[in-house]
Amino acid sequence: MEINIVNMFPEVLNLYGDRGNIICLQKRCVWRGIKVNIFEYNLDSNQEILKNADIILLGGASDREQSIVYSHLLNLKELIKSLIEDGVCLLAICGGYQLLGEAYVDSSGRTIKGLHILDFITKAEGKRLIGNIIIETSLDVFPKTVVGYENHGGRTYHDYQPFGKVLKGYGNNGKDRFEGLIYKNVIGTYLHGPLLPKNPHIADLMLKKVLERKYALDSSEFQRLNDTLEYMAHNKVKELYM
Ligand code: GLN
Repeated sequence: MEINIVNMFPEVLNLYGDRGNIICLQKRCVWRGIKVNIFEYNLDSNQEILKNADIILLGGASDREQSIVYSHLLNLKELIKSLIEDGVCLLAICGGYQLLGEAYVDSSGRTIKGLHILDFITKAEGKRLIGNIIIETSLDVFPKTVVGYENHGGRTYHDYQPFGKVLKGYGNNGKDRFEGLIYKNVIGTYLHGPLLPKNPHIADLMLKKVLERKYALDSSEFQRLNDTLEYMAHNKVKELYM
């Protein structure tokens, strides 16, 4: 078995350790004897890299970095959309999550066009929403909690399935108590930190989806790992901040 992971514009979309999500997925494959190929998609990359992706990461970015990258990503809109519809896993963090919507209006009122693959808008308003965040996820995983760190000016409102309900922190907009978005095998979320190392149940859900889709693997055949250390970190965050 072999999994292709594509990290989109890693030199720009890389806030608060988002690359750690790739390292986490890579390690969890290696520990299970699954071959894993990591590709970095940059300005001069060939679109074939994306066409063969099983997992795509769109990391977070400052407003300035977002505006640089958005114009390049727009050329990839149809391809990314068809990959999403085809069930490819996409993890979109913060600025990357905002990018899936129609637009991000930054703190100076400038509109940065998004991919508009999903139907929502994000607007920066008021104070930034910063701090540790804990949610109860809507996904079929155990434990139900997901822990992370958020730092965004943007407020996102949408009618899609949320990634979870906010137990501590702000989430999508600091008002409706929802966090993130689920669409097919896309997870959009404001959780940095990085997300996956201290939420191994989310990492494994993504890997299971890939193996089901690519190799029709039954989830009973998916090897469990010893996650004692990972859940010590996860539980420590809950103990400190919930
Ligand atoms: N620039 C965006 C905002 O402030 C996203 C920030 C981020 O990716 N952490 O809302």
